Amino acid sequence: MSPLLLLMLLSSLLCRQGLRVLGQRSVRSMSSVADKFSLPDRYRGSEKSVWVEYIQLAIEHQPLNLGQGFPDYPPPSYVTDALADATNGSNTLLNQYTRGFGHPRLVQALSKLYSKEIDRNIDPLKEVLVTDGAYEALFCAIQGNTNPGDEVIIIEPFFDCYVPMVKSAGGIPKFIPLRLREGAGTSGAISSADWILDPRELESMFTEKTKSIIINTPHNPIGKVFSRSELEIIANLCKKNNVLVISDEVYEWMVYKPNEHVRIASLPDMWERTITIGSAGKTFSVTGWKLGWAYGPDYLMKNLQTVHQNTVYTCPTPIQEAVARGLELELNRRSSPDCYLTSLAEELRPKRDFMAKFLSDVGMKPTVPEGGYFMIADWSALTNKVKLEEEKDPELDYKFTKWMTKNVKLQGIPPSAFYGPDHKDLAQHLVRYCFFKKDENLQKAAEILRNWTAPTSNL
Ligand code: PMP
Ligand code: GLN
Repeated sequence: MSPLLLLMLLSSLLCRQGLRVLGQRSVRSMSSVADKFSLPDRYRGSEKSVWVEYIQLAIEHQPLNLGQGFPDYPPPSYVTDALADATNGSNTLLNQYTRGFGHPRLVQALSKLYSKEIDRNIDPLKEVLVTDGAYEALFCAIQGNTNPGDEVIIIEPFFDCYVPMVKSAGGIPKFIPLRLREGAGTSGAISSADWILDPRELESMFTEKTKSIIINTPHNPIGKVFSRSELEIIANLCKKNNVLVISDEVYEWMVYKPNEHVRIASLPDMWERTITIGSAGKTFSVTGWKLGWAYGPDYLMKNLQTVHQNTVYTCPTPIQEAVARGLELELNRRSSPDCYLTSLAEELRPKRDFMAKFLSDVGMKPTVPEGGYFMIADWSALTNKVKLEEEKDPELDYKFTKWMTKNVKLQGIPPSAFYGPDHKDLAQHLVRYCFFKKDENLQKAAEILRNWTAPTSNL
């Protein structure tokens, strides 16, 4: 056989063999494709999101939406005008990338604002990070300070994203619930101050593996504004156990007098171990802008910066410019009652009181919040009016809120979404409503509930 023929024969054999191997591989890969590309383990168990589910529900059933927290009327016009000007004004560079860790004008304004609030000079370049919403600030704070096996103390109920963020960093969430004080509500309305942490239970949560604690004041969904003495208990335990505090303060400007917002970073020796988080969405009632920030000592902020630069790197320039201009305006009238950082709570207070009244009138038991724009209410007294059996979810509060959305056309959020696996029972008869809505819509909500609970209602 000629060497050429031999070569052709060999290559044809090899080729056929190769095709067979490829064929086998493609059969195998087709059968295992789902396994190979399944969700990474670090996100297992975090597939469900109350927001994804309830926003879809609202789209399908068109209820009066008191679910996800956002105002349904226009924000202050000077911030929206500032945004229009930032994109269309003479400085066209405001449409281009800006400094990764925060637009210079914005970090300056933030450092001015918070330096005054906590009575310490905050370095705008090293001690402030601007993020894509408070969500990203939380993400950077958690990812940047959690090693696999680290324990993170989380107070229930909690803003739901804390847990997947801790777990995906390899951390272990350790839950401690706020509990309703015994006898709360027997002589008048329940206040968010009636929801308390047991100091001994809290102390028992700290182990040598505890890396951090996440606190949220004013609190979503309870509306609790942690008092100075409650924060001191937390601060002392953190100092004693060398633990970091991640303080989510996105509702800092919505605190109802005589309550006062205390920043844990301002307590003695706490700056050194605290990362504080804020949100432009909440500050200027523009939740869709998704701009937030974190501030803290430079050695902690470095960890956040490292995560930020390797995930999103920088945030939208025009939005940062507009928020900076808005903050500058407020800083110039900080002591005036017109300052939005002061007037917002005054604007919300009558809405809060109106909601507390109409919920009580129909037999629900609201917790009157000291801060924030959410109200939780116990609906146990209305159980016989709801056809819970029509909904498949295991949790009663999910059944209640879904049934109400579909049949009564009023949407709230099920608070068990804000609890870990062991304490969901504490939320079974609760619902969360947002009261940052036009008066007209709050009146509609009152009417919907009144009609539904009326003896003549045919639902
Ligand atoms: N923390 C809490 C307690 C919240 O309620 C929210 C709601 N958005 C966030 C963080 C996230 O804020 P942002 O919209 O700025 O990402
Ligand atoms: N913080 C808002 C709420 O609790 C928005 C939630 C969200 O956008 N995921 O309703």
